[in-house]
Amino acid sequence: MAQQIADTLLEAFKHFFPNASTVGSYVNGDLVAGNGELVQLYDAATGERSLAYKDGGAEVVALAASAATAAQKAWWALTHAARGRVMFEVARELRKHAEPLARLESLGSGKPIRDCRGEVAKVAEMFEYYGGWADKFYGEVIPVPTSHLNYTRREPAGTVLQITPWNAPVFTCGWQLAPAISMGNAVLLKPSELTPFSSLVVGMLAEKAGVPKGLINVLAGYGQTVAQAAIANKAIKKVVFVGSPATGARIAEAAAKRVLPCVLELGGKSANIVFEDADLKRAALTAQAAIFAGAGQSCVAGSRLLVQRSVYDEFVAMVSNGAKKIKVGMPTDDATEIGPICNRTQYDHVMKMIASGVEAGATLAAGSTERSDAGYFVSPTVLANVDNSMDVARTEIFGPVVVAIPFDTEEEAIQIANDTEFGLAGAVWTKDVARAHRVAGQINAGTFWVNGYKTINVASPFGGYGMSGYGRSSGVEALYEYTQTKSVWVETAKDPATAFGYL
Ligand code: NAD
Repeated sequence: MAQQIADTLLEAFKHFFPNASTVGSYVNGDLVAGNGELVQLYDAATGERSLAYKDGGAEVVALAASAATAAQKAWWALTHAARGRVMFEVARELRKHAEPLARLESLGSGKPIRDCRGEVAKVAEMFEYYGGWADKFYGEVIPVPTSHLNYTRREPAGTVLQITPWNAPVFTCGWQLAPAISMGNAVLLKPSELTPFSSLVVGMLAEKAGVPKGLINVLAGYGQTVAQAAIANKAIKKVVFVGSPATGARIAEAAAKRVLPCVLELGGKSANIVFEDADLKRAALTAQAAIFAGAGQSCVAGSRLLVQRSVYDEFVAMVSNGAKKIKVGMPTDDATEIGPICNRTQYDHVMKMIASGVEAGATLAAGSTERSDAGYFVSPTVLANVDNSMDVARTEIFGPVVVAIPFDTEEEAIQIANDTEFGLAGAVWTKDVARAHRVAGQINAGTFWVNGYKTINVASPFGGYGMSGYGRSSGVEALYEYTQTKSVWVETAKDPATAFGYL
């Protein structure tokens, strides 16, 4: 069984890299085998051993860094419009290979195939969106009170290190690659050691579409080895990290030693607030999608459901009944709504959190504390009668587990929602427009929805408050992150004054 699983995954990978015998790093146009520690992968749907490969180590980082430095110069020397045109070609290339890429992503991450299809489509849109920006984001002329022409240039950071997690590999890869290369940067992308496949393919397809060799290098291996070696490499000028707060803090610490700027996109414990006057049917359906989609392995998941006490029992029953009907199944099955948790460590964490919630006095309104017979499957779980001080209400579970907390007043809802170290997202459900805006203005979060949840778009800025990180991705704000400003002063006077000190 294990051999068959490994072979199926390898076949899907070989669709893109016909000569591959396993995973390697994609550096300067080649798939390069690592010679570091072994990375053993497991199939999320069965728990069986899958492919294994060797960590790329510092050698691969050094190769990638020098390739990126050369490629970045050539890429930045193109016209802005030419870079944009190449990015449109990347989108076309991705669409051409969408189905095999989605299948590879599903096999390699345990995500349902329909989610993977959606994410690949989004990645193509990201390359188009930022391809469009390539020649539309530029400096300004500033009317200074001297005889100078003063203007600004938006210049690339140079070579950027991107470190991404396992929960949405292809989405996160496109999300960060597209704005980076649009602004003329080269990239060393270090996907999670558990889910390197789709990022390797995107790097390769981008090159096929016209991105210069060495501009996008995808490094396979562990964070402590590959990512840390890259942070220490002088070629790296900026670090963009998507992952857990603990790792984010470690990365920022290492980056600080080189005074490297960082963007940190971290976790969340977002409050989905339901008032008694809300459209309860729609709110209940959306509350399920908010937490259970992707098996809850989503940074913006609506993991704390705050419900006004007058409708609490009714609403929790609606969400719990819905949870029981969700189709949990094999990732490659078209009908599957929720697949397994991506990996064993995370599965153990989720199961431990459910048990700890029940032990602490929460009611198991849906779900189970039983482990699955095979694979890392978790039933959609609703923990009711939770107090915000309980561990299940404070720790990011990152699984299909929602905690339902009752509240009485608007003030109390806001207080509970903000009683967390995180600040990634949140939502309010009410028909009272004034209340909706009042609440939206008072919740500490980078994204907030009114009568909805989880709509995100490449055009709209995204990022965290507090422990959810800093810096912004998506939209025009990502372009500021991937550029630096140079102020240029040009003397225009016939007989300019010279002086010591500032003019
Ligand atoms: P993680 O922090 O364990 O790993 C993320 C990446 O960091 C991986 O590539 C990993 O190899 C690397 N890494 C690990 N240790 C490292 C070290 N010491 N030095 C350098 N790199 C290191 O996160 P995860 O478990 O893969 O992902 C889940 C987390 O990601 C959750 O907290 C989730 O909320 C968060 N996340 C946030 C967003 C967002 O946009 N805010 C999006 C998706 C996921």
